[in-house]
Amino acid sequence: MSETILIIEDEAEIAELVRDYLEAEGFTVALAADGKQGLEQFRQAEPSLVILDLMLPEIDGMEVCRSIRSTSTVPVLMMTAKRSETDKIIGLGIGADDYITKPFSPGELTARVKAHLRRSRYFSEQKEQGVLKYGDLILDEKQMTAKLSGRDLLLSAKEFQILFVLARRPGQVYSKEQLFNEVWGYEHLGDFNSLNVYIRKLREKLEADPSKPVWIQTVWGVGYKFVGEATS
Ligand code: CA
Repeated sequence: MSETILIIEDEAEIAELVRDYLEAEGFTVALAADGKQGLEQFRQAEPSLVILDLMLPEIDGMEVCRSIRSTSTVPVLMMTAKRSETDKIIGLGIGADDYITKPFSPGELTARVKAHLRRSRYFSEQKEQGVLKYGDLILDEKQMTAKLSGRDLLLSAKEFQILFVLARRPGQVYSKEQLFNEVWGYEHLGDFNSLNVYIRKLREKLEADPSKPVWIQTVWGVGYKFVGEATS
């Protein structure tokens, strides 16, 4: 069965061009011409990946992305009209996986779609096993252990969870609020600035030089991201 890609874009010309490219690669494509339809289609078509335009009628692309993210980890590739828009929405931490600025080559878009699908298949396999591997760093969800070069990092439960949430989506920038909500749950009314303390402790155990972190990097004014190349 072929994988379904959902394209949410009101400009028919672009939507159809991208659809033709993806269909030629063997994907099944669903189209939606506004944000509202897009969310409906998302629920019905259960796509493996979403290509989402930022400027949309009814519900804009940012809201659509937030809404998808509240229930799903499906890769979202966002199309923007300007590079400056991309920078702005990355800063808002809405949870898209990738951005492409118009005009773009459909060939490049298709290549990125394939790369994201490969990555997400890899992570869903890893997630089933509950183990993430990044070179010398191995995170085991069931045992809640983090090992670096064979040495147990002796993380607390919360430290482990923070690291695991970040490492599940390498390169993805999490705002402090988002990360806090993922680890403590949305119903927990806490001060998400306390996250700084956890991150500091985590870095002391994880990083060779905690003042120059390489695994958990700060994205100024936004939050944190995990940096690592997945290995099998
Ligand atoms: Ca548009």
